[in-house]
Amino acid sequence: MTSSSVASPSFGDLALLPAVLSAVETLGYQTPSPIQAETIPALLEGRDMLGQAQTGTGKTAAFALPLLSRLDLSRREPQVLVLAPTRELAQQVAVSFSKYGQNLQGLEVAILCGGMEYRDQLQALKRGAQVVVGTPGRVIDHLDRGSLKLEGLNALVLDEADEMLRMGFIDDVKRVVADTPQDAQRVFFSATLPAEIERIVNRYLVDPVKVAIESRTTTGENIEQRLVRVDGGAKLEALARILEVEPVDGAIVFVRTRAACTTLMEQLSARGLNVASLSGDLDQSLRERTIQRLKRGKIDVLIATDVAARGLDVPRLTHVINYDLPQDAEAYTHRIGRTGRAGRTGIAITFAGFREGRKVGWMEQATGQKMTEMALPDEAAIRAHRDEVFHHKVVAALTAGAEEQSALVERLVAEGYDPIELACAFARLARADEAPIGRLQAPRKERAPRDGKPPNRERGPSEGMIRYRVSVGHKDGVKPGQLVGALANEGGIEGNRIGRIDIRNAFSVVELPSSLPSSILAKMARARVAGRPLEISEDRGAPERAPRRRRDDGEAPIRRRERA
Ligand code: ADP
Ligand code: MG
Repeated sequence: MTSSSVASPSFGDLALLPAVLSAVETLGYQTPSPIQAETIPALLEGRDMLGQAQTGTGKTAAFALPLLSRLDLSRREPQVLVLAPTRELAQQVAVSFSKYGQNLQGLEVAILCGGMEYRDQLQALKRGAQVVVGTPGRVIDHLDRGSLKLEGLNALVLDEADEMLRMGFIDDVKRVVADTPQDAQRVFFSATLPAEIERIVNRYLVDPVKVAIESRTTTGENIEQRLVRVDGGAKLEALARILEVEPVDGAIVFVRTRAACTTLMEQLSARGLNVASLSGDLDQSLRERTIQRLKRGKIDVLIATDVAARGLDVPRLTHVINYDLPQDAEAYTHRIGRTGRAGRTGIAITFAGFREGRKVGWMEQATGQKMTEMALPDEAAIRAHRDEVFHHKVVAALTAGAEEQSALVERLVAEGYDPIELACAFARLARADEAPIGRLQAPRKERAPRDGKPPNRERGPSEGMIRYRVSVGHKDGVKPGQLVGALANEGGIEGNRIGRIDIRNAFSVVELPSSLPSSILAKMARARVAGRPLEISEDRGAPERAPRRRRDDGEAPIRRRERA
């Protein structure tokens, strides 16, 4: 593999078609990125290519610019086919082709993705699209229907090639490759290239040019990587504090599973944060709307799984937070690459437990950068931050003027109240809705595990907690996350103050802090889950030591006291 060493040429040196060059200028790109400088000349010659460079380094333009330069626009059939692993990525690539090809008369770009109307796709193909971008499934559909013909194809591109050659996709990719002419140029681009994937790649490429831009020097150079030592129960409060104090414009929070996506979203929205989630089980159009809302600033925090967020290009993301550790070093680089796009700077904050030093080690290896350990903002820091925010608000209100309040204030002064004391009272009233600051060392929680096995019921409630019974259970299809979300939301408390949850058949038992005022309990009792009111009541009847052979039908005697 070669690696970047020569000084960057300019776009003008690259023998691109003048109409393509002018589009690049319009877009304001000054110089080609290293991956562009090193791959464009060989791609213009029609060579097979394996290009590897960190995310956000402009790989799309690296293949789109030369391939657009080689199109025969008078030939109205597919000449370039790009496969991408997700619909969003395919759309991003298609949009890039249209932008870079904006001065090419007669250029047509078709997007073939699942979840979208066949009609538009068929029309674009009928109009003679020269560039086709899609996800494998839908591309195969069109091949099967005969609406997509690849006999005239000059180039096949696999974007995010590492993903495309993994188990889930490889068969589809093989099928598409089988339908493309033997001599078509094959171009694979990827941010990472695990060894087992590289072996597969070599089967598909003929005498390829291999370009790898060393990630050690480029990965995350503009991304500040931090580490927070935090374990299980304290993670939610840690996240909330970070989101409150950090200068976040947009943030993406990574969790491992879809279920965790939903739970965390509920917990954060219960705290009044503007969040949405992006996971594989979202319906396509909803996914897209979510990304648009993130781009436009309608939401600030996106909770996502690795697959769902791959390749996401949203420039305003200032923070990536690894709430759950990534599975491997590849996933880590993909995740942090969602920030620091196009020359901006970004911050990646990774939560790691106290025993997860080894994993931290391989993440540092992957980027060639040490993570700096970051202390969580303590209560004083949060208070100071809130004072700062409130200070700004007051100054803004002073500037805007508040004359309509003067009669009231003058009356209070005339009644003999001290102006400073008055102002303090006003400030307290104005800040009454600031969320309470949660505790970082949350009590250990044992929620019902996902397999439905109840936790050990033979123990009493956790310290400082009281057990309550709520009137929904397995028979209502309720999940622990839903209960946490509803209780926290309705009661206006943080999800991490809610303790163990034990879902039984007809009801569930929830631990809540014994210090909760009854007004909050009353509010919680009004919450509805699975269409039913929760009807909270103290779980007096649940025996502390359950009899061994009680039938667990959820209808165990409630009021009967066990004999000692
Ligand atoms: P990758 O596929 O490597 O993750 P993208 O192709 O999505 O990266 O590009 C990342 C961002 O960089 C995009 O917003 C793109 O418009 C921008 N970009 C690409 N090439 C250049 C360049 N030469 N100069 C400035 N910005 C660029
Ligand atoms: Mg890309």
